[in-house]
Amino acid sequence: MTFSVHGLVVSRGVAIGRAVLVASSRADVGQYFIEPEKTEAEIERVRLSRNAVMEEITRLQHELPTDAPHEIAALLDVHLMLLQDEQLIGGVKHWIVDRHYNAEWALITQYELIARQFDEMEDEYLRERKADLEQVVERILRHMKGGASPLQHPGVRAGSSRKQSQDLLLDDTLDVPLVLVAHDISPADMLQFKQSLFAGFATDVGGKTSHTAIVARSMDIPAVVGARSASQLIKQDDWVIIDGEAGVLIVDPSPIILAEYGFKQRQGELERQRLNRLRNTPSLTLDGQRIELLANIELPEDTLGAVQAGAVGVGLFRSEFLFMGRKGKLPDENEQYQAYRKAIDGMQGMPVTIRTVDIGSDKPLDRFSGKAQDGQLNPALGLRAIRWSLADPPMFLAQLRAILRAAFHGRVNLLVPMLAHVSEIRQTLAMIALAREQLDKHCIPYGPVRLGAMIEIPAAALTVPLFLKHFDFLSIGTNDLIQYVLAIDRADEAVAHLYDPCHPAVLRLIADTIAQCQVQGKGVTVCGEMAGDVGMTRLLLGLGLRSFSMHPSQILAVKQQILRADTAKLKLWAQEVLDSDEPSTLL
Ligand code: PEP
Ligand code: MG
Repeated sequence: MTFSVHGLVVSRGVAIGRAVLVASSRADVGQYFIEPEKTEAEIERVRLSRNAVMEEITRLQHELPTDAPHEIAALLDVHLMLLQDEQLIGGVKHWIVDRHYNAEWALITQYELIARQFDEMEDEYLRERKADLEQVVERILRHMKGGASPLQHPGVRAGSSRKQSQDLLLDDTLDVPLVLVAHDISPADMLQFKQSLFAGFATDVGGKTSHTAIVARSMDIPAVVGARSASQLIKQDDWVIIDGEAGVLIVDPSPIILAEYGFKQRQGELERQRLNRLRNTPSLTLDGQRIELLANIELPEDTLGAVQAGAVGVGLFRSEFLFMGRKGKLPDENEQYQAYRKAIDGMQGMPVTIRTVDIGSDKPLDRFSGKAQDGQLNPALGLRAIRWSLADPPMFLAQLRAILRAAFHGRVNLLVPMLAHVSEIRQTLAMIALAREQLDKHCIPYGPVRLGAMIEIPAAALTVPLFLKHFDFLSIGTNDLIQYVLAIDRADEAVAHLYDPCHPAVLRLIADTIAQCQVQGKGVTVCGEMAGDVGMTRLLLGLGLRSFSMHPSQILAVKQQILRADTAKLKLWAQEVLDSDEPSTLL
């Protein structure tokens, strides 16, 4: 029966596919796609582990003392029975053969399917057998322990482009589009999906500007977050439509609904093709103002999409994505140097703004724990970004040296996140000077960098002149600025309705920051999600912004707005918006 689940809009478009449920409860078990030729071997792994568990239980039965309570013997019988149950083993085979899940994932998937059936049983005794099934599955999993990294697709290597991925989608290894449904996905796991084939995704939790949502947007696939209980309501393999525009999931759609969304999908494709024609059109307003359109990237490979979309540089390279999901083993200076060089080379002479690492809050180093999160009461207000860097001088110096060395090969801006105190500014500048000294000492070549600070803490936005004394340019991180001005956790869907980019306090801080930079002739960019929101383009232009940094997938739509804009007229209107108690009513 068709039903819908509502969540928050993350990225445009429509995806239609079968649901792949990623069990967050057992996310520590590797879940990945296998090569089709490995199906037999995967089935054999399950069979061998299942047999080993059966032997274990049979041995236990034989070793049971004669006076042991008969319930124990009965329980072992139940376990043996479950291990031979055709629904369990047959189902596991299905997920491996038809869906190419690895053995562990197939086992968990089938377990969850049967567990739901147990939950629905009226007979209490049968309902309680779910716990036995769980124990049996855990035992098999223990035997199968080990495995590859989570959620990769056969034949998809790190660094392969989305085009390649789409080609794979069409090949006969997997002819059904898949959409990913999970309770939560960490930003590090999202990064893995960049190389995968999912046509869309949905999560129960997360806000519009949570980092999981940001990475999804950068992948340019339809997505919905904050869909509360989606991962419970949707079953493995259900057909699901993800309507990114409306923030809705439609489960088990009727043929009429499917046809309607198929039409919407084709319309979206046509719109995309139309926008593509703007790629080489100069980014000029009607009154001749040149507007700089820059790209936000997470990995050096993303520069390809940035260049294709016509970006004139990278306005934000979130370097922390090089640090995530590595089980705490951070990239050393050389590895970072290579990555930054790759991004610089990828931009073919255009400037690259590398932001020093912003680990912490909803960007932990690893999925479950990390230095940035351990023991913190409130990570969004804790040891994050520059605070984390300054707390670990060797790590920070290694990153600074890597960036300076990379700057020898192209135009680099060095951007510092989350600064609020003048003492932090001083320490940061001292560290940069020290990194230069260290390179000089070893005669290692490095290049000049322009220094920038993120304005994303209200304290920084209220002391812009102080920042302008020390930095060449500023970059307004509206995602965090809004979070901290309004005291709304950007990753918490429960308060997502209060996360308001148009709150008068937010707009005033943005307007003042831009105005003060203009007075002093210093560059200012907005690099938060607001810069890529076409609903905000006119207002930001009216507030005087001339440099926008966003995901490459949003550049052409924003350019379209720019081509239709007249900044002289927008300036007057923007003042009205600023003076309003309810600015959003004027947009
Ligand atoms: C921001 O806060 O707006 C920003 C660009 O940084 P991030 O989203 O990575 O925190
Ligand atoms: Mg930020």
